[in-house]
Amino acid sequence: MTASLRSYDQLFIGGRWRKPSSPERLSVISPHTEEQIADVPAGSTEDVDAAVTAARHAFDQGPWPRLQPQERMRKIEELAGVYGRHIDEMADLITAQMGSPRSFSRLGQAAGAASMIHLTLAAARDFPWVERRRGVLGEAHLRRAPVGVVGAIVPWNVPQCLIMPKLIPALIAGCSVVIKPAPETPLDALWLAEMIEQLELPEGVVSVVTGGPAAGEALVRHSGVDKVAFTGSSATGRRIAALCGEQLKRVSLELGGKSAAIVLDDADIGKTVAGLKTAGLMNNGQACVAQTRILVSRQRHDDLVDALADMMSSLSVGDPTDDKTDIGPLVAQRQQRRVQDYIRSGQQQGARLVTGGADAPEPRGWYVRPTLFTDATNDMRIAREEIFGPVLTVLTYADEDDAVRIANDSDYGLAGSVWTADTAHGLDIAARVRTGTYGINMYMLDISTPFGGFKHSGIGREFGPEGLEEYVELQSVACNGKLPPLNPVEEAAK
Ligand code: NAD
Repeated sequence: MTASLRSYDQLFIGGRWRKPSSPERLSVISPHTEEQIADVPAGSTEDVDAAVTAARHAFDQGPWPRLQPQERMRKIEELAGVYGRHIDEMADLITAQMGSPRSFSRLGQAAGAASMIHLTLAAARDFPWVERRRGVLGEAHLRRAPVGVVGAIVPWNVPQCLIMPKLIPALIAGCSVVIKPAPETPLDALWLAEMIEQLELPEGVVSVVTGGPAAGEALVRHSGVDKVAFTGSSATGRRIAALCGEQLKRVSLELGGKSAAIVLDDADIGKTVAGLKTAGLMNNGQACVAQTRILVSRQRHDDLVDALADMMSSLSVGDPTDDKTDIGPLVAQRQQRRVQDYIRSGQQQGARLVTGGADAPEPRGWYVRPTLFTDATNDMRIAREEIFGPVLTVLTYADEDDAVRIANDSDYGLAGSVWTADTAHGLDIAARVRTGTYGINMYMLDISTPFGGFKHSGIGREFGPEGLEEYVELQSVACNGKLPPLNPVEEAAK
């Protein structure tokens, strides 16, 4: 089994390849050549219904939720083995679809997704699937039951790294899952389906329905879905949360960000700029956690801006399959135009363009120049809205309190960072910033620790035991009399 840029005629519904109900197709376009590289079925409401019906049946009547977590984990270990043999091919497939530079696709996308499988298995080994607790009525038995049928909806920017923290904990918990990937990146999800097919899971446990927003919304609205796990924009998240609210459906949301990097006066400028190269510009700037607002004092402003400008103007922009490329194309022409509009708005609102600009650097491909603004204020669109491209904005603070105030003056609260010679002081700053994750002299995701947002950046957490909690319901059992001892399997799962 090899990954190839091939088209698919069928959808993976309930663990089997099935003809889609409609002839409509989705084109996958290379952001580098602007040419079509494959096409796949555009799943319809009927296809979503078929997948949810299969998942419902698997959950209500099938063996999967009734197995012990350890038995399900053995299947996931098998998947880890299969997946681990195809990391480079998966990375190349992702690069071909959405333009992530190969260096990032390997480490940040495919290898990251493989690690997520292993780390979720590790968290599941220590997870308290059952426990006994002393209640006021006597000993209570607590059981963590699977939440049910899960609809998992993801965007295109790190597609496998967004599927894994939903699919793997959900499966280990005993749920059945319907995945709806983004229309820009259906191929990696369908290839994952081919790997899952090899596991011979019970019928109905996993489906992959490729399609656009309509397929996503059909999944959210479906009465057979118990929980929606969504990653994407805050606008879509708000709509999904409202639909789930009407149905009292469980929902977890991983949404947008506009993270601030606070550069303190004692920071080493060279190291800070080297760190911001990744933290601000990884994946062509198409990262929800990108550190895009750079806060610095008046005193260190010129040194930082000069160093940032040197770094950004020396980046290699071009073919994402070239190992030396730093910045590849953006995912779609729509995204290129959106980022160019933001660059123009920065200029119109009075920020100073230091390097880069709105003109396209290549005649072909959806490229945007790495662009640096300074002399910006936090009320400008480039400081308030998520740009999702290689654009950094420097803002000046009066003192540390002002830096914290600017960092917190955002609708978002996903990530942030502080750059300082004094890490203890960095920890104090972290405690004052309202974001779900924070970095001191770095920003990188630790995929073994809880990840999620404050404010408009989301609800819920992925990774670690907290990521498993999202896929279980707690059941408390009281007993008029003495509870029998846990059986050996339960004892092991305690
Ligand atoms: P998007 O919200 O437009 O789309 C995301 C997914 O939702 C796609 O699969 C899309 O088809 C589907 N969708 C769209 N409308 C829907 C609806 N009404 N009902 C159900 N599904 C629907 O997001 P995007 O702009 O393609 O992706 C980028 C966004 O994702 C950015 O805002 C980024 O910050 C965010 N993101 C967040 C995280 C995180 O973990 N917090 C990670 C990566 C990306």
